Amino acid sequence: MAALNSGKPAVLSSVPIALNNPRMQIYLVGGAVRDTLLGYPVYDRDWVVVGATPELMLQQGFRPVGKDFPVFIHPDSGEEYALARTERKSGKGYTGFHYHASPEVTLEEDLIRRDLTINAMAMDDDGNIIDPYNGQHDLQQKLLRHVSPAFSEDPLRVIRVARFQARYAHLGFTVAPETLLLMQHLAAGDELEHLTAERVWQEFQRALGEKTPQQFLLTLKQANALQILFPELITAVNDQQTLTAISKPADARVRFAVLLRSAFAATNAELRSEKIKTFCDTHRSPNAYRDLALQFSSQADQLCRFTQLNAGQRLELIKNLDLLRRSEHLDLLLEGCSLITDNSITAKTELPLLLQRLQQVDPAQLMAQGFKGKALGKAINQAQLQICQQQIVGVSI
Ligand code: ATP
Ligand code: MG
Repeated sequence: MAALNSGKPAVLSSVPIALNNPRMQIYLVGGAVRDTLLGYPVYDRDWVVVGATPELMLQQGFRPVGKDFPVFIHPDSGEEYALARTERKSGKGYTGFHYHASPEVTLEEDLIRRDLTINAMAMDDDGNIIDPYNGQHDLQQKLLRHVSPAFSEDPLRVIRVARFQARYAHLGFTVAPETLLLMQHLAAGDELEHLTAERVWQEFQRALGEKTPQQFLLTLKQANALQILFPELITAVNDQQTLTAISKPADARVRFAVLLRSAFAATNAELRSEKIKTFCDTHRSPNAYRDLALQFSSQADQLCRFTQLNAGQRLELIKNLDLLRRSEHLDLLLEGCSLITDNSITAKTELPLLLQRLQQVDPAQLMAQGFKGKALGKAINQAQLQICQQQIVGVSI
């Protein structure tokens, strides 16, 4: 493996606040440290503040977030600064925690409550890495390993590990066997059922945008969590073709649509739509995901063989997808075809061309020729069919 990056990263050049309390120390923590060491782009930075009180943070101009949580927003950068804290399990799910933040809590105590060793490192403003739980070693070994047995206290960690596996598996990362055991243990209890659908969706959506989203599902399956969190996807996850399809680079919505089409492939078109709607309701999938999945599942078969369709079928497909009025899904739908077939390249150029030409059919012109009512509708359809026919016989349109 390539050596981990070292040296003072640019990300730390702007630790902002002029500290007038010498005990107060600010560290970059979590994903930003991990990704800096991996040479990955850093999109969001989290900070931990040791030796401070809420009053001190407010005096320095930070804005508090929520009321129970010792987290503050920096007035200029908008980044999150959390007071060092310890936590204790107090109930079910990932919200069932008591937090204890005080100026006495050390950096090491704050880091030990984190999920994975690679997420439990900090960096000071000189670029020094503080790594009490050997995160750098696990980065070298490409291991997703829990920090402490307290991992089992938060079921969300099962899903987070699966998401990190979706992000880093292509680099050779694996889940440490002892961490997988804890995940399986969590799945065997009733903890996963206490996660809110919104939170699970959030992680799933992020996983769909990672390099290898199939690894998210496969890791959940290995942890025996797939049958609890996404029982509807078991068939799709057992299908190698589907896994390969969603591993190709594509928009997260497209991968979702391909996955759901496969999940409910065995049912008829009407039932499939119903099942997709139920899935999206259960898992709180936003409309942008739901709408594309519905369109794709009902029309993908025809769309993917667009160039073999006759004029009537082409027009029917375009109308079923409502492409003359709303063509913003077209690129995504075609992207979906490119994941499940190899022959969608011609459609990629031909279909937009055809739409452009069809949009030029002008009802006003036909009305001027005396068409109205039902006859007008028929004339428009006729003109559209003719254009489709022209494309098939190769008349330049
Ligand atoms: P990403 O690159 O996806 O933002 P991240 O590791 O930064 O990954 P965040 O959700 O931003 O993830 O959380 C920041 C840090 O907070 C993590 O690196 C980890 O140390 C800690 N953390 C977040 N969620 C949990 C959790 N459920 N259990 C334990 N530690 C957590
Ligand atoms: Mg982060």
